[in-house]
Amino acid sequence: MPDNNLTFHSFNGRRRILIVEDEVINQEILRMILQDTYELVTALTGQEALDHVASDHETLSLILLDLNLPDLHGLEVLKRLKADPRFRRIPVIVMTADKEAEVASLTIGAIDFIPKPYPQPKVIHARILRTIELCEDRDIIRWTERDQLTGLYNKEYFYHYAAQFDLYHKDMAMDAMVLNVNHFHMINERYGRKYGDGLLKNIGERVRESVKEAGGIVCRREADTFLVYCPHRTDYSDILEHACVKLSGTGKNESRIRMRMGVYSEVDKMIDVERRFDRAKLATDMVKTNYTSAIAIYDDSLHESEIFAAQLIEDFPAAIREKQFTVCYQPKFNVQGREPVLSSAEALVRWNHPQLGNVSPGVFVPLFEKNGLIQELDHYVWREAAAQVGEWKKAQMSIPVSINISRIDMYDPDLSDHLDNLVHEFGLDHKDLFLEVTESAYTEDSDQIISTVKELREKGFKIEMDDFGAGYSSLNMISTLPIDALKLDMEFVRNAFKERKDTRLLEVVIGLAESLEVPTIAEGVETAEQMFTLKTMGCDVVQGYYFSRPLPAQEFYDFARERSRGVQHELTHSSHRSSRDRYTFDALHDPVTGLYNHSAFDILFYDADKDHIAVLIADVNEYETILEEGRDLADRTIRYIAEVLRQSFRSVDDICRLREDEFVVIMTRVTGSMQSLVFDKVKRVNEALQNPPEDLPATSLSVGVAFSDREHPEGDIFQDADTALNRMKEKESCGCEVF
Ligand code: C2E
Ligand code: CA
Ligand code: CA
Repeated sequence: MPDNNLTFHSFNGRRRILIVEDEVINQEILRMILQDTYELVTALTGQEALDHVASDHETLSLILLDLNLPDLHGLEVLKRLKADPRFRRIPVIVMTADKEAEVASLTIGAIDFIPKPYPQPKVIHARILRTIELCEDRDIIRWTERDQLTGLYNKEYFYHYAAQFDLYHKDMAMDAMVLNVNHFHMINERYGRKYGDGLLKNIGERVRESVKEAGGIVCRREADTFLVYCPHRTDYSDILEHACVKLSGTGKNESRIRMRMGVYSEVDKMIDVERRFDRAKLATDMVKTNYTSAIAIYDDSLHESEIFAAQLIEDFPAAIREKQFTVCYQPKFNVQGREPVLSSAEALVRWNHPQLGNVSPGVFVPLFEKNGLIQELDHYVWREAAAQVGEWKKAQMSIPVSINISRIDMYDPDLSDHLDNLVHEFGLDHKDLFLEVTESAYTEDSDQIISTVKELREKGFKIEMDDFGAGYSSLNMISTLPIDALKLDMEFVRNAFKERKDTRLLEVVIGLAESLEVPTIAEGVETAEQMFTLKTMGCDVVQGYYFSRPLPAQEFYDFARERSRGVQHELTHSSHRSSRDRYTFDALHDPVTGLYNHSAFDILFYDADKDHIAVLIADVNEYETILEEGRDLADRTIRYIAEVLRQSFRSVDDICRLREDEFVVIMTRVTGSMQSLVFDKVKRVNEALQNPPEDLPATSLSVGVAFSDREHPEGDIFQDADTALNRMKEKESCGCEVF
């Protein structure tokens, strides 16, 4: 039995009993016997009793019912109580001197009887207590299936309990909280299910610890989501903090899991318990989109968003009728060749609402997914997209476009025919349409989805699994799923590049996909750093603001025309190479060293955080004499220098070979105070270069450095580093000069 059961089923620690008895003397006897143990209320007539039950049934633990009442017969009262599902659970003990009536009342539903004249007080007590406990246990058995894993309440019981709590603590301000583990499925992937289970258990215990004293209750709603109902507090961070358990065995500096928390503070008790947690959940989702803080508090603007949602739903039919929805196309580039090649586009819907302006699909798509309108919207968008692809084809521009298929569409038995018809109607090939199916669809009812996907593929549609890394799938699922490409979730990609850049997981996923020969697509790619890292890891296709935002059809057409010249060029020059022949021809890497080349440097430098870097330019001393001995020796020497540089700088620093014998390093997140560290590095580089492998000549570097926070800048940071280098060279010795 739940440990704090008592506090919930009692009023001020005492259970409440309704005594229905018209004779004052009997009333008094019962009062004397029971008043120390129970909270008593009395009714003198049958009708009074029924009124009382109607208003207070949720807090009543027992009814003691006399059969001889002035208005209704006790049996009639009993009948009415048992006929109403709201009151049925309240146990009734009948009090009568009539043996016959005892039997009748038991058959109607009384649980026990107390004969008149009354027996010994302790007999009355025993009967009452036994009855109450019996019924409460029954109640609890009905509700309690605790969560097997954590031993916390399951959600049904939890909701019931929370409602019960409110009844007894009407004036207490309460908070509803939702806690969720970030990327929990990834923890499962990485450390195994068993480990994940252990973590959840641990988290559950810790959350309970945090709120137990205050009288809070906790449940695990599903997978990695915990609910807390707790008397109001002002600071929530300690709960979250305490819940973020360590990931043990994760290497030298143990990292902790990350969680997010949504709070609906001082709940409105007029709305039902489940909806209160919906609101807290809504706040949790805010955390997802705004990563600056891990805790979000529900406020009325979010509530307004509910009202806003209602308006969008209402406006939907007119929006379809009046063609307020348009379709934009966002380019996807194949980045594995020498130059990025425009390879396809994703159709993304836009809503230009007459009063609200542009409404983001991030808002209305999830909403329409919930209420089913999405299907109509999708049909609309697919049709627009198919018509557009047909038009482009006629204009001699063949480019596949991917359309988004919602989960609900996947259950539509006519889906395949529907898409078929579009293909025929607009004179397309099946391979002109790619279908993006969200990852979570696969895990939901995988058999059904998989057979739908198979059917679509047999027809010739290409399937891309969308949002991979966001849902609950397992990595080894990709090996068995029928898909043509894996599209990494935007948040998943982005997280890898956050503050403390950690791209290992990303690399694992891309590597795994590669080993299964499934190409990967990364979306939401915004910076040169992301782009190059992904490319280097072997990601095949990149989509994101780095290349282009989603564009209206005409703009996309112009963009693609412009780009296709590049494509032609690429095709004629590298057609004899397989597309997986990666770095041989590469616009961004130096073929000798594999370091970034000057084009890449331009982009990297442009993109760098100019306030927190150091630029370091290094020139190889007496390179000409090495070159005179032949190209081969020069290249081998340069390769060795490159290797030494790679070893000496951190992976977050970008190293480029700018010219034949000139290298640049963009060191990120450094300040002038770290000057001596840079000197040290250069010194060690030069030591290594002075002691090369046997077959290479000894070399050295002259280095000029400039820091973002240098005191009197003359030019930009690159120019100032160059000035420092020239000063260094004038000295005619190797070493390092700071601007
Ligand atoms: P999604 O399918 O994951 O689409 C990618 C979203 O990322 C698009 O947002 C796109 O504009 C945005 N995006 C692309 N590159 C970048 C970038 O570099 N940085 C950032 N910050 N964002 C980038 P959008 O268009 O707002 O769509 C949001 C979501 O709405 C889509 O996510 C998709 O789930 C849904 N959606 C959009 N159009 C449709 C549609 O026609 N049908 C269905 N069923 N869903 C759609
Ligand atoms: Ca998509
Ligand atoms: Ca996506």
